[in-house]
Amino acid sequence: MENLIIVVSGPSGVGKSSLLKKLPLEDFYFSISHTTRSPRPGEIDGKDYYFIDEKTFLEMIERNEFLEWVKVHQAYYGTAKSEIYKAFSQKKHLILDIEVIGATRLKSQFGNKAIFIFISPPSLEELKKRLENRGTETKDKVEQRFRRAKEELRFASWFDYVIVNRDLEEACQTFKAIIKAELNRPFRNISFKKFINNLDV
Ligand code: 5GP
Repeated sequence: MENLIIVVSGPSGVGKSSLLKKLPLEDFYFSISHTTRSPRPGEIDGKDYYFIDEKTFLEMIERNEFLEWVKVHQAYYGTAKSEIYKAFSQKKHLILDIEVIGATRLKSQFGNKAIFIFISPPSLEELKKRLENRGTETKDKVEQRFRRAKEELRFASWFDYVIVNRDLEEACQTFKAIIKAELNRPFRNISFKKFINNLDV
């Protein structure tokens, strides 16, 4: 079976992490990004992110260690190239939960190897409610994230798939169905390709 790079984007508060947490760990490896933002209460270094300072982040950029990186909400975020190796050496699909600019940068690097999924809220009102209810951010930060969410939503149609997260369980089923369908595309199915190539006609 081919290992995929699955790029997942969507506004803050849309429920991406809750959705991704429902996927089986034996099939999926969740990329851990590097960031210069401060940990939120409960976040653990090396699990949620690698929390590093700006100097270290800039040095990593210099050494060309990132697949992609961006600066958003006054902080740097980046995916280290080593995450691909970690996933594929365990024969798992790599999941990247990144914002839309980073996602578009990966398209030119990976072509068909990567699939791009956007998670959308059912409405802006619902998104605002979820952001406020999270209670992890100041009022200003919530506003900032809400403004950025509207910008991100404009990119949705660029993605291969859009999942509207009305109901977590349903969104998760849709996500799994997409992966299953993608794995059955003829150019990914190695044994099918061999079978076709050996047809004696
Ligand atoms: P948060 O601060 O809420 O954890 O993340 C803010 C945004 O940064 C989210 O949209 C998240 O998906 C995105 N993000 C996290 N890690 C990366 C990364 O490595 N690269 C890019 N481009 N975006 C990231």
